[in-house]
This record gives sequence, structure tokens and C-alpha cells, in this order.
Amino acid sequence: MDEVAKNVYQISLFPRNGINCYVIDDILIDAGIRSSSTKILTAIKNKKITKHVLTHAHADHQGSSSQICSTLQIPLWTSELEKENAESGNVVYEYPNNRHLIAKFQQKYWAGKGHKVSHVLREGDTVGSFTVIDTPGHSRGHISFFREKDKVLITGDTLVNMNLLTTVVGLHQPPNLFTTDQAINRKSIQKLFALQPKILCFGHGPVLVDNGDFEKFMSTL
Ligand SMILES: [Zn+2]
Repeated sequence: MDEVAKNVYQISLFPRNGINCYVIDDILIDAGIRSSSTKILTAIKNKKITKHVLTHAHADHQGSSSQICSTLQIPLWTSELEKENAESGNVVYEYPNNRHLIAKFQQKYWAGKGHKVSHVLREGDTVGSFTVIDTPGHSRGHISFFREKDKVLITGDTLVNMNLLTTVVGLHQPPNLFTTDQAINRKSIQKLFALQPKILCFGHGPVLVDNGDFEKFMSTL
């Protein structure tokens, strides 16, 4: 685990930060794909984790959720709109084309089984030292987490910091294939930009200490 800000740890699950999850304070945010559980449990073995929270219930974020919650006996929290998918484990039907080969692949090989959601989060709620921000678009109930004090932002997949095909680092909107509504998601990106985050932690791509990259990206939206 790399400490990327005070009490914020990145767990990189794929080469080149292809898929990440995070620990903020004593909370695990996201949980990679189904086969990520050993890596995550090893990374957090010396930390007391009290709950697990999802930015959204896609297969590359909820893949190991059930296994980790059961192993550590911790509750799972999501937004209201992600609850159903998190509990059913049926996580791709909201994609624009859920019969696409990659969607089928993700559901079959990446998605974890459903797990009971014990608490539903709303915008403005507190998760450790962070505040919940509603950022719908990539999925209907996608949420991000922001810490005003040092401007740390957990973006989830509202925007990503790599080209997911080439793995070249850089800010992008999330891929169309996995995004429920790009226009709504662009509004969410604007909402996050308005917070003026300094350290951005992505579901995909390396952590960004922002020196104007976000502003430059906004001009391309
Ligand atoms: Zn993702």
C-alpha cells in the first residue's frame, strides 16, 4: 500500500495502476475484480478495517467485495442506486450494450457475488474524514469522496487517468462501453472540477497531484 495523502492508501491491483482500490482511514473503498481478494487482504492485513464502501457496483470495483466483507466481517455501504446491483451481483445490465462481449466477459469472470448492503450513503454523508459527492453518469448511483482540508478526491470512474486500451497515462472520460450516460457524467466531472481537488485518486490510472492537468482536460470536454 502506498500512502498518497494522510491516511489515504492506494492499493494497485493491476500493472500500471490499471485497477486501484483505496483505504481511507479505516475504510476500504472499492475491491477490484473477483480474483483481487488475496492481494487486497494481504495489503490490508496490518490495518484495522471497519467497513467497505463502493464508488459504484461495477465488476472491477465490487469483484472482491463479498469475499472481503465476509472474511473481515465488515459491513458493505453503497449509494441508494448502487444497492440493488451490489446485492445481486448482476452488474453490467446498465451498460449501454450489456450483450457486448466485454460486458459478458466482465460479468462472467470479474464480477463478485452479491452482498448485503447494510447502509445507504447520501450526498454530504461522512465516510471517515471524507464527504460523499453524488457523481452519477458512469453508473446511475456513482459516488465520489472528497476531503476539503487537503483537497483529496477519490474519483471512482467519473474520470480516469489512463487510456484503458493503451494504458498511456492521461485524463479521460470513462469509456462509452461501460458508461450509462456520458452527458450526465460530464456534469459530474464539472462538479468535481469545481471542488478544485489537488490530489486525485482514480479507479484506473495513477494518482495525480494536480498541476493544472485537470483544468487543461476540462477545456477538451
Ligand atoms: Zn472501473
